Amino acid sequence: MTIIESVNAHDAGYEPVPPGFADWTSWQREVHDLARRKDAVVLAHNYQLPQIQDVADHVGDSLALSRLAASVDASMIVFAGVHFMAETAKILSPDKKVIIPDARAGCSLADTITADQLRDWKAEHPGAAVVAYVNTTAEVKAESDICCTSSNAVEVVESIPADREVLFLPDMFLAAHVKRQTGRTNLHSWLGECHVHAGISPQDLEAAVHADPDAELYVHPECGCSTSALWMTSVGDIPADRTHILSTGAMLDQARHSSAGKVLVATEIGMLHQLRRANPRVDFQPVNPKASCRFMKMITPEKLINSLRKETDEVQVPAEVAARARQAVERMVAIGRPGGGE
Ligand code: SF4
Repeated sequence: MTIIESVNAHDAGYEPVPPGFADWTSWQREVHDLARRKDAVVLAHNYQLPQIQDVADHVGDSLALSRLAASVDASMIVFAGVHFMAETAKILSPDKKVIIPDARAGCSLADTITADQLRDWKAEHPGAAVVAYVNTTAEVKAESDICCTSSNAVEVVESIPADREVLFLPDMFLAAHVKRQTGRTNLHSWLGECHVHAGISPQDLEAAVHADPDAELYVHPECGCSTSALWMTSVGDIPADRTHILSTGAMLDQARHSSAGKVLVATEIGMLHQLRRANPRVDFQPVNPKASCRFMKMITPEKLINSLRKETDEVQVPAEVAARARQAVERMVAIGRPGGGE
């Protein structure tokens, strides 16, 4: 069964339960019992499989979950997401044990830039301010001046003096969005992209909009189609008042208050589960139903149970790297909306 089939099957109630469990209720009970015995809290990203979202203590975007990780009263964090997110949780809560059910769950966007590459880029632009999206490794954050999420990226860049160069990394679509919003000409963009969001193409968007001309549109600024969405609104192909460029956290806020009949969503398909829960009266449909992150889906219900039982895979960040990365993350938290991000 493919991931898409698996997600759809779960929504339809046909997802097979993990080996050793009679049904989903007994699996959920075991997750909760283990978490209570181990003084652990289970955090799940919005792009996780629906079963994992449903069993978690908290579901959200990367930054909101990291902030929760730092503030919750538990000695162990089980992070159901990708590795850089669990690392950020460890950076913000160094005294807690942070585990991820599969440490191989990486991120194609975070992998587009290494700390060495960033040091070389900085050497080409002495004095420039480095703004790093949260989808970066701890080493890259440690080389950055300030982090940002998709919801506060514009405010973060606006906080930097207008005459100072900005190196924005690693997502070129988010950089283009920030450049458009700020009108800044001295912002240089790293040419990174997420394979999932870049895979939601302008053609996908056009086809979806023409098939459903009355639907609203939620577009994540990391998507390959975000520029196309803005262009289509400017030429009147889609109405500006029904097109929203939103981080995942902002999508949920918008969904809760929506009176739309149908909303087309351009981001990773796991997000649909939270949107449908936030407002069951609205018909949320993906712009590209194949936009599934294989790294996110490496966290399976079976691995989640095993990680709680064995307390693996533990996430470690060297203290010196964590201290420098924490400064960049804390500067971000001080600016604009605290939530948002992927
Ligand atoms: S959806 Fe893209 S940016 Fe998000 S974790 Fe997957 S590869 Fe990384």
